[in-house]
Amino acid sequence: MSVESDLCNALAPGVIVPFAQIEPRYLGDWICHDAEARPIALARPRTTAEVSTVLSRCNQHGVPVVAQGGRTGLAGGATPGSGSVILSMERMRSMEAVDVASSTIAVEAGAVLEAVQQAADRADLLFPLDIGGRGSCTIGGNISTNAGGNRVLRYGMMRDLVLGLEAVLADGTVLTSMNRMQKNNTGYDLKQLFIGAEGTLGVVTRAVLRLFAKPSSVQTALCAVTNYDDVVRLLGAARKSLGADLAAFEVMWPEFYSLATEVAGLRAPLRHGYGAYVLVEAMGTDTGRDQVRFEEFIELALTNGTIVDGVVAKSIRESQDIWKIRDSSGEFQKTFWPYVGFDVSVPIGDIGRFMADCRRRLAARWADAETVWFGHAADSNIHICVRLPGVERLPEEEIDTIVYDCVGDHSGSVSAEHGIGLLKRKFLAKSRSADEIATMRTIKRALDPANILNPGKIFA
Ligand SMILES: Cc1cc2nc3c(=O)[nH]c(=O)nc-3n(C[C@H](O)[C@H](O)[C@H](O)COP(=O)(O)OP(=O)(O)OC[C@H]3O[C@@H](n4cnc5c(N)ncnc54)[C@H](O)[C@@H]3O)c2cc1C
Repeated sequence: MSVESDLCNALAPGVIVPFAQIEPRYLGDWICHDAEARPIALARPRTTAEVSTVLSRCNQHGVPVVAQGGRTGLAGGATPGSGSVILSMERMRSMEAVDVASSTIAVEAGAVLEAVQQAADRADLLFPLDIGGRGSCTIGGNISTNAGGNRVLRYGMMRDLVLGLEAVLADGTVLTSMNRMQKNNTGYDLKQLFIGAEGTLGVVTRAVLRLFAKPSSVQTALCAVTNYDDVVRLLGAARKSLGADLAAFEVMWPEFYSLATEVAGLRAPLRHGYGAYVLVEAMGTDTGRDQVRFEEFIELALTNGTIVDGVVAKSIRESQDIWKIRDSSGEFQKTFWPYVGFDVSVPIGDIGRFMADCRRRLAARWADAETVWFGHAADSNIHICVRLPGVERLPEEEIDTIVYDCVGDHSGSVSAEHGIGLLKRKFLAKSRSADEIATMRTIKRALDPANILNPGKIFA
């Protein structure tokens, strides 16, 4: 019996959609689409038991399964290959009531991030993960990519926000660890295996998420500095003055600031020509005290020369205007295009040297190479866009190799947030040792001996 017939017999009508009826949107993620792929079927389970049936049957047939959330991934992790079964979590979106005492919420993996944020908000609490894909991406996808975003500095990455988890293994075993306690040292913390695993070790079906007190005051400033050394000094001062309230520290280099304010048409709160621009944000619970402390921090930084210019937002509108500059990368693509994009991390103290080295290496190969730099510098995370003016078909692999060689030489990571998926498999060894990769493969073989879970992702 074919796997498709087996799945149709074992599951309720409507769960399995045959290849001929699969809509094109299921054939890729945000940037990696394979219109030629011919997956066997699309499974849209409603329950963990149905997920278990899909996996156990596919395991028996040796058929690959590609889990999908909102398909907003940026590494090709959710892109299905021919001969696979797509497992979409889009029907598993339910959320339990917020547990106020534990400050947690239990949700199904297909719940959309924005819906979880809203559920927390209704309970006067905060689910702090926030990324651009919030309206479509799912908690299962956020867990499987260990998503980051703008508030990592204060609340950590997705890994730090998950207390409990349920996952279905390749053979259909349901592993339920819906822990709601902060402390639980009973042997291996199995949930960690599935966080950041990009669907290669199991399918996440439910999770218990941590919630936090909602901040009542937000202070935002845009600061100009002369060079990267002063960025690091400013970060040290912000950590000391603002403590745990420091919530964002986003650095934009001059090319980025110019594109955002000149090309994307946003008002420039500070003049052009400085060495770097830093968005600093603090979130607290005492509006009066927080404002005074924040302004004192900025004044001191101006007085001692750490920053050479700065503007503090006086209203939510002004704060949003500063954030629009940071979030404008989608806008300037209209002119700064085509480019090759990177999501790398380098130890904070080394980012300045890494940038100089990377620029030098690119210029040695293409004298007119243009680069744009911005990112969550306090999390070591830098985004780079590389363009060769007048070149439509960019030598992507060559650019990748130059940048990732440089990342490796500076002990950095080829993926800070987006994962390895299909697109960065070749470069995994720039950031992980042979022993680390061998251990990852051992874990993969132990949990998925038939290699049915998202094969070909992470490892070539
Ligand atoms: C505009 C925009 C802004 C973004 N900003 C950020 C950002 O700031 N920070 C950041 O980290 N990312 C960012 N991203 C990337 C993306 O939104 C995240 O990677 C997100 O976590 C993916 O969730 P998803 O539900 O769309 O997953 P998908 O794209 O569907 O899948 C991603 C990976 O997870 C696996 N997967 C999905 N669901 C499950 C499951 N239930 N069980 C097991 N495996 C599963 C897939 O197989 C795939 O490997 C951004 C994307 C966009 C489009």
